[in-house]
Amino acid sequence: MHCCAQLDEAIERGSLYCGQKSRIDDGRILNDLDTDYFIRSASGRGYDYLGINYCPFCGRVIGRGLWMAEKKK
Ligand SMILES: [Zn+2]
Repeated sequence: MHCCAQLDEAIERGSLYCGQKSRIDDGRILNDLDTDYFIRSASGRGYDYLGINYCPFCGRVIGRGLWMAEKKK
């Protein structure tokens, strides 16, 4: 269960990837955020993964790095 139903759906459809960065082996990661959430899009060879810290649907924080930062406060 994630922040909202749309995000759950996107992960089910495969347009979003949720998991460890190190387990991505079918494409390349376009940026360097400390997150477990990536927007996944087909590219010439395999997929492009774009890490995100905020849910693109509801805007809540989903990135691990930011969660940690929030907890420390
Ligand atoms: Zn959401």
